[in-house]
Amino acid sequence: MDNKKNRTENEIFDLIKRLYPICRSITGNGVRQTLNLIKEIIPLEIIEVPTGTKTLDWTIPEEWNITDAYVKNSSGEKIIDFQKSNLHVVSYSVPVDKKINLSELKKHLHSLPEHPDWIPYVTSYYKENWGFCISHNQLKLLKEDLYEVKIESDLSAGSLTYGEFYLPGELKEEVLISTHICHPSMCNDNLSGISVVTHLANYLKTRKQKFSYRFVFVPATIGAITWLSKNEENVKNIKYGLVAALLGDNGNFTYKKSRLGNAEIDKIVEYLLKTEIGEFNIIDFSPYGYDERQYCSPGFNLPVGRLTRTPNGEFPEYHTSADNLDFVKPGKLKESFELYKRIVEVIEQNQTYLNLSPKGEPQLGRRGLYNSVAGNIKEYELALLWVLNMSDGNNSLIDIAIKSKLPFNTIYKASQDLVNVNLLKEIEIQQ
Ligand code: ZN
Repeated sequence: MDNKKNRTENEIFDLIKRLYPICRSITGNGVRQTLNLIKEIIPLEIIEVPTGTKTLDWTIPEEWNITDAYVKNSSGEKIIDFQKSNLHVVSYSVPVDKKINLSELKKHLHSLPEHPDWIPYVTSYYKENWGFCISHNQLKLLKEDLYEVKIESDLSAGSLTYGEFYLPGELKEEVLISTHICHPSMCNDNLSGISVVTHLANYLKTRKQKFSYRFVFVPATIGAITWLSKNEENVKNIKYGLVAALLGDNGNFTYKKSRLGNAEIDKIVEYLLKTEIGEFNIIDFSPYGYDERQYCSPGFNLPVGRLTRTPNGEFPEYHTSADNLDFVKPGKLKESFELYKRIVEVIEQNQTYLNLSPKGEPQLGRRGLYNSVAGNIKEYELALLWVLNMSDGNNSLIDIAIKSKLPFNTIYKASQDLVNVNLLKEIEIQQ
């Protein structure tokens, strides 16, 4: 096997392994630790937004940190231990230190009867509460007893932390790639997106791009809202965008279109899935899911789609301890990385042109571009005719590839040759 292929696979998986033990939430040191590990790979800027800051219709909450948590039975045995899995504690649990009986304890326990071996992932960000999550099998075995419950957490003024890496290109127009970073030990939901985006940014950072790229690592919902609130003036530069998540499972790719529904990003991803991937799903925008909800809220309505493998909530391991290091596959992570890379390649080449000789077909043979014998036209020459005919200023190269059913690469090559003989000129990017 090719070593380079294995290297990328291993690097994507290795970052997931390093991030896996960290207890993340929407704020706190777990997020900072996560961003610092990403910063070893790409030059991330880490931004702190203080508790109490107004961000659009929201307010930055108190920062949550946790050092330990457990439930002990009357013999002093820890029957639930945060040190064994950070999923055992409901995220944003308030501090607790008390002795309670079984029925009181059960009011604060969460389990999954349909998957009795797994620990569920539960949060209570905006409602003051506390709780533990355990396997249903363990819950069934709990006996009447006086339990000691301890949660050593801290909720106090601090900040919300997010990371951003801006990679300038020739143009001020931008491609936004956003991923969420607020889930504790789960691999497909959040770590696969974090690692694929980090490695995509790392791959692009040493290359010259036409577009500028902005990689955003934010806690879900409140983080994206905070980023939007701090960047309200700049978002007009975003011409393409993707929310990246759930990229390591065995399922097919699923593309969720932007709210616009027919943005260039929608056309490019759909085209690549159809022509280069095989089995896939495409779904329309809906106001539920990940941070596309924020980027595509009506006041922004950005050209941002979402590219995952199996969507949120549609695989049994979702939001449980079974979304672990065995659940994500290095080969699938690599395949996801390659598709994102390919999307960037097409974004870079996609362009709208104007035919400078639109009255009748220009004589291509005279310019050395057309050699076919009549009636035996080659794919490349057909591409020249399509590009010339559709380049009236309203169609991009991806539109022409879709309409002509010719490979994007052939359409692109034809356009570059036509530019070189002064038959086409670039039109400014619009959205
Ligand atoms: Zn999630």
